[in-house]
Amino acid sequence: MNDVHQGHTDGAERAARRDRAVRAALEQGLLGPESPIAALLDVTGIRESAAALRAAFDAVTAPGTPVLHAFAVKANPMVAVVRLLREEGIGAEVASPGELALARAAGVRPERTVFDAPAKTPAELREALALGIAVNVDNPQELARIDGLMRSADSRSPVGIRVNPQIGAGSIAALSTATATSKFGVALRDEGAREWVVRAFAERPWLTRLHAHTGSQGIPPELLARGVAETYTLAEEINGRLGRRQIDTLDIGGGLGVAFDADATSPTYAQYARLLKETVPGLFDGRYGLVTEFGRSLLAKQGTVVARVEYTKSAGGRPIAVTHAGVQVAPRTVYAPRSWPLRVAAYDAKGRPKSGAAVVQDVAGPACFAGDLLAEGCALPLLEQGDHVAALDTGAYYFTAHYAYNSLARPGIYGFVPDGSGGVAFATVRQPQTMAEIVAESGGAHAAALTTLHAPGRH
Ligand SMILES: *Cc1c(COP(=O)(O)O)cnc(C)c1O
Repeated sequence: MNDVHQGHTDGAERAARRDRAVRAALEQGLLGPESPIAALLDVTGIRESAAALRAAFDAVTAPGTPVLHAFAVKANPMVAVVRLLREEGIGAEVASPGELALARAAGVRPERTVFDAPAKTPAELREALALGIAVNVDNPQELARIDGLMRSADSRSPVGIRVNPQIGAGSIAALSTATATSKFGVALRDEGAREWVVRAFAERPWLTRLHAHTGSQGIPPELLARGVAETYTLAEEINGRLGRRQIDTLDIGGGLGVAFDADATSPTYAQYARLLKETVPGLFDGRYGLVTEFGRSLLAKQGTVVARVEYTKSAGGRPIAVTHAGVQVAPRTVYAPRSWPLRVAAYDAKGRPKSGAAVVQDVAGPACFAGDLLAEGCALPLLEQGDHVAALDTGAYYFTAHYAYNSLARPGIYGFVPDGSGGVAFATVRQPQTMAEIVAESGGAHAAALTTLHAPGRH
């Protein structure tokens, strides 16, 4: 099937599922006056997205090529999500002890887990090597640490080196990892760096992988593919110079961008996999195993934040809807709206898509600072008190990366599927945060800590 067409069909079906879920969430009381914000995850969409990823690489790799798709857990660190993806054949890429713990709680096996992080401690490295988890080394000091650990332990972990091909930035500087001065990996074009990498492999037969992650949202697919090509070329050079196929696996990272301006998936995994095959044909001929680390592209379009419009008002002629979704669930959009614009959909009090002439208005959040706007000057049917707004495509890096400003509670997260008889069934993925939890996380157990602390000798 033509996958541009496929992307559009998927998008329309996903939007229809979302509309039904918003309405059902209200009918079933997940949302209401006393629970004015909830996050919804489209389980059907997550399964389809995982299946599309597997199919895309199956279509371009030689039969029998080992391919591990490791979900970048930071994109949606919910145990039930990682577990669902596990069931769909997807492993986990973790970048902190917390993410590793989540992946283990989700039952992802060590052989299906990849540990990347820029600041791994000795204890974290020891644990990863003891478990047999794949580790990508970031820098020479870390490699020296692993040398010490490998001497004292007998690890099954595949170990690789992360390289930075330094091929340049995309449209969002903070997410571009392959710039000349990026903090990630070994900067390949720096003087002596390439030789250092070759020597590192020559001296360590247990180093068998190369890793590159060229960036996230805002990097065009062609630039991602060039990063992969540079990594492949280096692997070929190293194996050629060593006269053996020591590098047996390439980890090509994640980073495929998401279209935040439409329902359709674009680019699709199928398009990206074909682009990779055209750019780096040798990568797919079966000589190398592959690891991928997609995050945003797997989950973004499967998540929606729905919030109640508490009040509407107007200031300086601009209509403003004051809602319960703002910086706590969408910090990137609020602080960097030009890089991270979100689409907002309007629903009425019953959760039906709202119709009516579009009016330019601001959709504000609940936090106490003026910049807390989910969308500024967006054209929507005029919102009224008791309506709802939905922040679309927020399944990755939004409500799962809660920002605790104003001690606003983390919203509940609910997965949904069609219930088979025209309705929608929900399951709790994460409970809404309670006031008791907020107090506890803010040191409630230490309430008297400062009033009872005195300098020695003073009473
Ligand atoms: C964040 C990250 C990813 C995932 O990036 P996405 O843009 O979410 O696909 C993959 N690999 C590494 C090393 C990362 O840091």
